[in-house]
Amino acid sequence: MQSQRQHPPHFSCEFFPPKTEEGAQKLRAVYREFAVQMQPAFFSVTYGAGGSTQERSFDTVREIQAESGVETAPHLSCIGATKQSIRAILEAYRAQGIRRIVALRGDMPSGMRDTGDFRYANELVEFIRAETGDHFWIEVAAYPEFHPQALSAHTDLDAFCRKVEAGANSAITQYFYSIDAYLRFIDDCEKRGLSIPVVPGIMPILNYTQLARFSDACGAEIPRWLRKRLEAMGDDLTSIRAFGHDVVTGLCHELLRQGAPGLHFYTMNQLEPVQALWKAIAPTTDMEL
Ligand code: FAD
Repeated sequence: MQSQRQHPPHFSCEFFPPKTEEGAQKLRAVYREFAVQMQPAFFSVTYGAGGSTQERSFDTVREIQAESGVETAPHLSCIGATKQSIRAILEAYRAQGIRRIVALRGDMPSGMRDTGDFRYANELVEFIRAETGDHFWIEVAAYPEFHPQALSAHTDLDAFCRKVEAGANSAITQYFYSIDAYLRFIDDCEKRGLSIPVVPGIMPILNYTQLARFSDACGAEIPRWLRKRLEAMGDDLTSIRAFGHDVVTGLCHELLRQGAPGLHFYTMNQLEPVQALWKAIAPTTDMEL
C-alpha cells in the first residue's frame, strides 16, 4: 500500500444522539474533553435507521458544533426517504452552517416496506451534489471486510467506486481488527484509480458479547485468535477492557505507521476507552510521511 497520508494524520470521533437528559449531560462532558485533548478534525453524529432519530440528531449536531467549536458532521441515511425530505434536511443543515455530511444508504427498519426514492448511497451522494454543489464535504462508508449484503468482493468495490464517482470526498471504514483487510482494500482502491482518503474506523473492545453480536450484524470480523482470547475471559470486563485496549492500541499504531490518513473513533458516547487509546497513540501522531 502506498501511504495515503499527505498531511499529519487527522482524528475524528463519532457519537450517537442521546435519548435522555442524563445521556445529553454525559455526552456534553465527553465532547468537551475530546475537543480540548484531541483537537479533532471533526465530530460526527449518527442517524437512526429510516430517520428515526432525525430531530435528536439535528439538535445534537447543532449543540456540539456550537458548544465545542469543532466542525460537526451529521450522518444522513437515505433508505425510505423521499427526495423532498432529503432536500429539506440538506437545506436545514446548510442554514445551520454545516459543511460536512456522512452520506449513507442505511438499513430498512423492520416493518418499513417502501424503500423511497433512493436505493443505494451513491444515489444520495449524487443528489447532494446536484442540490448543493460543493457546499458539503461528503464522507461515505467503506467496508474493508465487505458489506454483509454484498454479492461479491468485486461488486462491493464497484459500489464503493460509484460513491466516489458520484462526488464523495473521503471515506470512513466499518471497524475491523485485521489490518491486512484494510491494506488490501486500499490497494484495490489504488488499482481502480481511487485516491480519496479512507480513514479507518476504530472500535474499542469493551464487552465481548455485545461486540460479537454487533459484528455479526454489520459484517466486521473478529479474528479467531482474538475471539478465543476474549471468550476465555468470560464476564471479566476488567480483563477484557485491558486486553482490548492493548489490541486496539497496537492496531492504531500499525495503521498510522502504514500511512493511514487518520483514525475515526467510535466512542459510543463514552470518554474513557477512547481517551485511553488517545493517550497511548498521541505521542506518535505528529509523525510526518
Ligand atoms: P451502500 O454503499 O449503498 O451499500 C449497501 C450495499 O449495497 C452493499 O452491499 C453494496 O455492495 C450494495 N450495492 C451498492 N450499490 C449497488 C448496486 N447498484 N447494485 C447492487 N448492490 C449494490 N447506519 C445508520 O443507520 N445510521 C448511521 O448513522 C450510520 N453510520 C455509519 C457510519 C459508518 C462509518 C459506517 C461504515 C456505517 C454506518 N451505518 C449507519 C451503517 C450503514 O448504514 C449500513 O452498513 C448500510 O447497510 C449500508 O450503508 P452504505 O451507505 O454503506 O450503503
